[in-house]
Amino acid sequence: MNDVRPCSECKGTEIFRRRYLSGQKALGGDIEGLGFPDLGGVGYGAMYSMLVCATCGYVRLFVSDEARSKLEDAPGWTRMPLRSDA
Ligand SMILES: [Zn+2]
Repeated sequence: MNDVRPCSECKGTEIFRRRYLSGQKALGGDIEGLGFPDLGGVGYGAMYSMLVCATCGYVRLFVSDEARSKLEDAPGWTRMPLRSDA
């Protein structure tokens, strides 16, 4: 991910990113990083990026290409039907 869309909530263009390995300590405190079961590799978790809008604080998460490639076959991950008005 080298470029991003403006914030979907406020259309802000000041977007900041931080990368995480799932399971790591996140947010600089005692909150554990998010888990993405079965989307990491042997001995390591899935990589993901957190994007924060500096204008309104809206947060978006994106898992890595490697993690996305495992969704199809990973147990516990279900393909969702799309709404008819999507
Ligand atoms: Zn925003």
